[in-house]
Amino acid sequence: MSFEVHAQGAVHVFDCFSCAIHRMAPICEHCRVQVIGQGVEADGHWYCGAHCARAEGKAGIVDKA
Ligand SMILES: [Zn+2]
Repeated sequence: MSFEVHAQGAVHVFDCFSCAIHRMAPICEHCRVQVIGQGVEADGHWYCGAHCARAEGKAGIVDKA
């Protein structure tokens, strides 16, 4: 049941999705929650949503959803 995740030129092998999520998911730089699904990226920083990006002073960020 193992599978590979290709990211940024590297191949990561996982045997469960939760392992992959914990290894691959970025962390919101405002509230520290793990970003699973659609986060927002602003100036190279990751946030779980537009509200956190705005809380960090990133203007003009809107949720993609
Ligand atoms: Zn957040």
